[in-house]
Amino acid sequence: MQYQSTRDKSIKVTAAEAIKQGLSTEGGLFVPDSFPSVSLEEIEELADKSYTERAYFVLSKFLTDFSEEELLYCINNAYTKEKFETNSIAPLYKLNDSTYVLELWHGPTCAFKDMALQILPYLLTTSMKKTNEKDEVVILVATSGDTGKAALEGFKDVEGTRIIVFYPNNGVSEIQKLQMVTQEGNNVSVAAVNGNFDDAQNGVKRIFTDGEYAKLLEKNQFKLSSANSINWGRLVPQIVYYFSAYADMLKNGEIKPGEEINVVVPTGNFGNILASYYAKKMGLPVKKFICASNENNVLTEFIETGIYNKNREFHTTISPSMDILISSNLERFLFDLTGEDDKAVSKWMEALNRDGVYEIPADVKGKLTSMFAAGCCDDKETMAAIKDCAEKYDYVIDTHTAVAKAVYDNYVKETGDSTKTVIASTASPFKFNQSVLIALGDYSSVAGKNEFELLQELSEKSRMQIPKSLAALQDKSVIFDLVCGKEEMQEVVSDFLMLE
Ligand SMILES: *Cc1c(COP(=O)(O)O)cnc(C)c1O
Repeated sequence: MQYQSTRDKSIKVTAAEAIKQGLSTEGGLFVPDSFPSVSLEEIEELADKSYTERAYFVLSKFLTDFSEEELLYCINNAYTKEKFETNSIAPLYKLNDSTYVLELWHGPTCAFKDMALQILPYLLTTSMKKTNEKDEVVILVATSGDTGKAALEGFKDVEGTRIIVFYPNNGVSEIQKLQMVTQEGNNVSVAAVNGNFDDAQNGVKRIFTDGEYAKLLEKNQFKLSSANSINWGRLVPQIVYYFSAYADMLKNGEIKPGEEINVVVPTGNFGNILASYYAKKMGLPVKKFICASNENNVLTEFIETGIYNKNREFHTTISPSMDILISSNLERFLFDLTGEDDKAVSKWMEALNRDGVYEIPADVKGKLTSMFAAGCCDDKETMAAIKDCAEKYDYVIDTHTAVAKAVYDNYVKETGDSTKTVIASTASPFKFNQSVLIALGDYSSVAGKNEFELLQELSEKSRMQIPKSLAALQDKSVIFDLVCGKEEMQEVVSDFLMLE
């Protein structure tokens, strides 16, 4: 199987090249030039398999230039019981007779980014070897919280790689900051930037596009790369858990083979929900995809009207990982919906860049709404969904999952659709403990408490165990206390790499 660019179909590369490059040279994203199809019998067989076997089943269909040995090396190093604190890796929790919660947050950083970022370093280093790349990869990340820590945990001590993460000094939660500044590993570095997330991201972009600096790096045998969600190596591992959820439902007798399910995904960059769509394209029986947004509801409007318009107020919400106005993976979906029309996709992406807005034609919009429903909710509704879920089912969800739950409940009210439904749960409630505790009804329970007291309080209220990795933060010492100006980021990189 080859990979082609969404903005120029004539560009074809192997999976290893696509993962190594991240982005195509003309700015497009890599997508498979054909989709593997999976039979119902094969899906049924997955019921008795482990998560790693299910991962091999899916990944081997896409990364066709990887040997069995290479793939097993990547998969078996990524999805271990030690890292995920559970054998099932992505367990499915039954909320009631028609609603199931796919818990994607058992990884080392307690958010679903681990599902892809635990395996990406292995896919990337294997891709480097396969393409005879001799340089060391340097991963540069600007983070608003979840991605930075997940990338650090994924890349730490992975041979042939270094990673440096920049976070906005006053723009991440206390627990996210603690997670990053205590990071261990012999190839990692973390710096706070005096500025907001945009400053950190712009700084990273400047380093990436500085031609002189690229030459200096090359001379020192370094190659810059990024770990963000446009890389195919981050998307393909996400297809696995939708097959895994379906296989678990079959195994537990919740559905009959071939029975269609719905999928609800709390969405930001459109990566996670796109992975579920790709699963359906391969043959997974899915009826509706329900795209859930917070107040930054650019996708809700797009799915309802066919107009994508990022010219709107940016809202800071209690589900910060979905505070996004440009959903970059939508480009891959549009490429697919238009029957691989690279010209149309290029035109829309140019319009988005220039005017911040584009509109898709009625036939494409029709295809979209035949499969997708969308909805959004504000912080108040998110809080109410957490409380409601805890009271009805004695099950505590985080703020992102709560957006999905609220949107799903509205969808059911409006449509009466009783199809069995999987809700993608993207973070542990402990990671957003303060909002969750307030939602559970007690402002006084958070007042004056530090992070560890909050974790304890939430553990008592939810009768869930505090994730080991979060509890352990209390005894870790701060390793990275560097704060730099937004103009000094390149110097920080040079110091870390000891460039002359
Ligand atoms: C990144 C993230 C999301 C959004 O996922 P996309 O793939 O960007 O749509 C949702 N919830 C949490 C907790 C996240 O970290």
